[in-house]
Amino acid sequence: MKNDEDRREGFSDIFTLQKDVAKVKVPIENEQTAAQEIKRVGKAFGADLIGITQFDQRWEYSHKFSDMSSTERPPEIDEDLPNVIVIAQAMDYDWIRTVPSALSGAATGLGYSHDALVVLSLTQYIRNLGYNAHGSMNDTSLAIPYAIKAGLGEYGKLGLLITKDFGPRVRLGKIYTDLPLSYDEPISFGVKELCDICQKCMMGCPVQAIPSGKPSNIIHNQSNLIGVEKWTVDGEKCFSYWTAQNSDCSICIRVCPYNKDYSNSIHRFARNLAGTKLRKFLLWLDGKLGYGKRLKPKNWWVE
Ligand code: SF4
Ligand code: SF4
Repeated sequence: MKNDEDRREGFSDIFTLQKDVAKVKVPIENEQTAAQEIKRVGKAFGADLIGITQFDQRWEYSHKFSDMSSTERPPEIDEDLPNVIVIAQAMDYDWIRTVPSALSGAATGLGYSHDALVVLSLTQYIRNLGYNAHGSMNDTSLAIPYAIKAGLGEYGKLGLLITKDFGPRVRLGKIYTDLPLSYDEPISFGVKELCDICQKCMMGCPVQAIPSGKPSNIIHNQSNLIGVEKWTVDGEKCFSYWTAQNSDCSICIRVCPYNKDYSNSIHRFARNLAGTKLRKFLLWLDGKLGYGKRLKPKNWWVE
């Protein structure tokens, strides 16, 4: 594995902070119990959501960008690691209500920090069991397809994962490993059907980066994935807006009807109804009740 200064752990490169893999392997009774144990330990380390799926070459980056030479460089993982553990960390609901703001930037930063803590801890736990594991965040592969395959949520029109428990308000991490594990199945709770009739993220986007029509394989520019039929966000328009305003954005996350505090049973009930034929009514009600409106950052301090 490459390990020089031309690296950004967690953003363009996997983590290398772990100790070596233990020389003796702890025997695994079966893949199901091993998966249960990993999820239990991951939750104990602080994971909000955790699922497991199979390695899939289609979602792996073929090359990386070298900050030092502004050229491409090869990916780092060259071992055979057939399993991917996907972890989601929720961002603070009230801070995301202030998007765009420094407070919401802190929600993003804290989400990444929690992600790093869980990914690093669980990676080391697996290595201590005698199995190979590499922790990864935004680097190495596309996280969303893995998260969908691992049953953490559905794909939304805003181009992000929508989870049942936190909507799109999550940060993702993943661990590649050869620890034998059983896999989770993708889930469906009506996101596609709601996105078909909802345009809140599209209307809220200040640079019209979110598509209006049906999922398609049309791409906007070289930054998009080719050959996949889906709602494709113009990432270059989106990121140009971030750089122009010197901050991240996430308005699409704030306004999404799935961005709710699901510790509240009424919101859980409404989410379940949104998965039925009542979705149009729920969407209307969401707007009527003023969800998605921006909370002024100064009001957060006194709420
Ligand atoms: S983050 Fe902002 S600019 Fe980017 S797609 Fe979402 S709303 Fe648009
Ligand atoms: S705002 Fe509406 S269309 Fe956009 S992702 Fe959320 S539910 Fe789907």
